[in-house]
Amino acid sequence: MKSSTVKAKEAALIENRIIKISLVNSLLAIYVFMGKDKDYILSENYCSCPHFYYRIFRKNFVVEKRVNAGSTKCYHLQALELALEKDKVRSIYVDLVTMKEILLEIYSMDKSFILRKLVMR
Ligand SMILES: [Zn+2]
Repeated sequence: MKSSTVKAKEAALIENRIIKISLVNSLLAIYVFMGKDKDYILSENYCSCPHFYYRIFRKNFVVEKRVNAGSTKCYHLQALELALEKDKVRSIYVDLVTMKEILLEIYSMDKSFILRKLVMR
């Protein structure tokens, strides 16, 4: 099947890119797409990339809900979906201070060095 071959390739590409950061002793968790140059903060229906905003504000919400979800999602959300489906999400647990530092790094420097250090372990 052609589509499954494509999916397998995509799965290889996203491997180790989607990181689930969970806060210890809490239900709070965020996903981060760890890109080559930039990291993006994700949840099931949110992404911090400009592309995501562009799609949301450009399109009528009602229309958006009716069309195929795959076509309205940015690359990162599609990657997250695929990673969840293929069980390729890497999980790490951090304390609140570390989580804040990771988010601050992503907002201020576009990517998190703390996160990279943590996933290298
Ligand atoms: Zn995105």
